[in-house]
Amino acid sequence: MFHAQLLTLFPAFFDSPLACSIPKRAIAAGIVTVECIQIRDFALDKHKKVDDSPYGGGPGMLMKPEPVVAAIRAAREKQPDTHVVMLTPSGGRFSQAKAIEYRDMPGITLLCGRYEGFDERICDYVDEQLSMGDYVLSGGEPAALSVLDSIIRLLPGVLGSAESAVLDSFTEEGILDWPHYTRPEQFEGKDVPSVLLSGNHADIERWRQEQSRQRSRR
Ligand code: SAM
Repeated sequence: MFHAQLLTLFPAFFDSPLACSIPKRAIAAGIVTVECIQIRDFALDKHKKVDDSPYGGGPGMLMKPEPVVAAIRAAREKQPDTHVVMLTPSGGRFSQAKAIEYRDMPGITLLCGRYEGFDERICDYVDEQLSMGDYVLSGGEPAALSVLDSIIRLLPGVLGSAESAVLDSFTEEGILDWPHYTRPEQFEGKDVPSVLLSGNHADIERWRQEQSRQRSRR
C-alpha cells in the first residue's frame, strides 16, 4: 500500500480528480491511500493566519514557517517513513524517472505552496524540492496532482494489461511512445498507415520501434 499525504490550503482542489478514473479505482482497491492535511489547522493565532508580508518589502505574501513546519511534522508523525517533497519552481525537475523512484518508496508527502511561495527556512524541513518545469502555477496543488497521478498509474495492480504503463513514453529514458491509430481507417483524407492493417505482427512491431526511435530523435 502506498501512502500519499497532501499538505495544502485547498484540500477541495483534489476532490474531483481523485474521484475519477484511475486514481478513483486505485483508492477503492486499497492500493493507495490519499490524505489531505489542511495547513491552516496548524496556524497559531485565532485568525488562522498562514501568510505574512516579506521582510525587505516587495509584492505578495509568503507562507509562514510555523504552520507549515507544524503540518510537515504532523505528516511525519502519521507516516514516519514518508518522503516530504516541497513543490516549488526552484526545485529539481520532475520526470518519469522521478515518478518511478517515488513509486518504490513507502509513501510521499507533497507540500503545496500558495501566494509568493514559502519562507526560505521551510526548505530545511523537507527532503526534496521539486519543480514541474520553467513556468509558474498559482499554487502547488496542480503540481502535486500531476506527481501523484503519475505515481498512482505505476503502482502494481492499478493498470490492467490493456493500459499497461510499461509501454508509456519515457519508461526507457528519452524514448517516446509510437503513434497510435483507431477506427475509422480514413479520416478527412488521412489514412491509417497500411502496415497496421496488414496483420503482420513482426512488421507492425518493427514499424512501431522505428517510429518511436524517429520521434524521440526529432
Ligand atoms: N514567487 C514564486 C516564484 O517566482 O518562484 C512563485 C510562487 S507560485 C505563485 C505559488 C506556489 O505554486 C509555489 O510556492 C509552488 O508551491 C507552486 N508552484 C508554482 N509553479 C510551480 C512549478 N513550476 N513547479 C512546482 N510548483 C510550482
